[in-house]
Amino acid sequence: MRMEKQRKGVRLVLLPLPFQGHINPMLQLANILYSKGFSITIIHTTFNPPNPLNYPHFTFCPIQDGITDSSSLDLLHLIILLNIRCVTPFRDMLAKVISDARDNKEIVACLISDALFYFTQAVSNTFELPRIVLRTSGISSFVPFLLFPLLIERGYIPIQDSQLEETVTEIPPLKVKDLPLIDTKEPEKYYKELSNLVEGTKASCGVIWNSFEDLESSPLSYLRQEFQIPFFPIGPFHKYSSSSSSSSSSSSSLLTQDQSCISWLDRHKPNSVIYVSFGSLAAITAAKFMEIAWGLASSMHPFLWVIRKGMVIDDGKECLDPPFPAGFIDNLEGRGYIVKWAPQQEVLAHKAVGAFWTHCGWNSTLESICEGVPMICMPFFTDQKVNARYVSSVWKIGVQFEGEVKREEVVKMIRGLIEGNNKEGSQIRERVLDLKEKARVSWNHGGSSYTYLDALVNFILSFEPKR
Ligand code: UDP
Repeated sequence: MRMEKQRKGVRLVLLPLPFQGHINPMLQLANILYSKGFSITIIHTTFNPPNPLNYPHFTFCPIQDGITDSSSLDLLHLIILLNIRCVTPFRDMLAKVISDARDNKEIVACLISDALFYFTQAVSNTFELPRIVLRTSGISSFVPFLLFPLLIERGYIPIQDSQLEETVTEIPPLKVKDLPLIDTKEPEKYYKELSNLVEGTKASCGVIWNSFEDLESSPLSYLRQEFQIPFFPIGPFHKYSSSSSSSSSSSSSLLTQDQSCISWLDRHKPNSVIYVSFGSLAAITAAKFMEIAWGLASSMHPFLWVIRKGMVIDDGKECLDPPFPAGFIDNLEGRGYIVKWAPQQEVLAHKAVGAFWTHCGWNSTLESICEGVPMICMPFFTDQKVNARYVSSVWKIGVQFEGEVKREEVVKMIRGLIEGNNKEGSQIRERVLDLKEKARVSWNHGGSSYTYLDALVNFILSFEPKR
């Protein structure tokens, strides 16, 4: 990424939501904007803080959220709590940042907040500070979020088991089972959060998307009609910065990435390995774990599997160790390699990797597209379900488990994607390589994301004289 001269005195304040899939793109965006000459302040929670040592060129300001033990909270309640607990400390910290900037003859041009930190709209209003939101998920999945009230009114939500396979006629090709729901006993709270997300986004000055026009042009045009604010689809963020060490994926990782898997990959033939990872939050039952493990072993293909601490749940309790049957790993004769956390972007870029079995978190989906790796989709909740349907049925760059995961199906899917003699698999591979190229064009000079980035910089600079 080419560095531009520092714009003396123009500072941006960024607030990431403290989860891996949100921290990564926010810090990548911070690097992009820094390279455009802005000074960067990151206000962050003390829950899941980024490591300031990896970003000596930014100013970090922690705020106390009071969350010391999150183990009893699910994702929904954590987000609700963060939006309540952060109001006062964020307001106080923002006041300090603005006042310090003034003392240093700088101006804070705007706040860039994660869209799920919707409380920040009211705070930025009190300072008359423009607020831009970063939406870290795809554009396609925002459409059902926007339409939730309508989907409830038309009886799609709450979901009925008898309707799972029906197409949602308002947003094809999504089926009822693809609607971005979360497992909760309090669905009303979830609907309220989505409404806060949508309203907080509508009230902002503009939206930055980690996506590119060629990938999501139709949901982009649809949302443009619904929102009266500018959109900046400037993704994929990580590709602007992958050559600079200060912005490599390891810098914003909350867990230590186990690099040993790269030398293991080096020992394998091109396109032969299946990489398996379900991101930072998804959890599976011990029974599902078994089907995955046996499926991988029976495929006879080498695999690299990320098994996070606590990722497997048995009888409602986290398993401390992965519940492999005795002798399982030894019997693989080196065909399987397990890590607790991988350098995912490097793994996907490795020539040995032939397919990615993923939960379809947006970052994982985008990272896979950017390296031209076909996907096996196993979504868990919220936007992952929409992303998976887009991967399998719109972009047609992967296959999806449509029901329970069974070991026989795992074997069929892996072989279909990885072995070159399958027509569907070869077509999928061709299409994902085509999208990889479209992504590359977008962030290069003159591409759509590159051009939108210039527009974003000018948009931010246009705030200056008014303040
Ligand atoms: N990731 C990683 N190592 C792993 C698994 C994931 O560095 O072993 C990174 C991955 O590259 C991505 C992020 O964690 O940037 C996960 O974000 P995503 O949106 O895919 O899923 P989430 O964790 O939010 O469900």
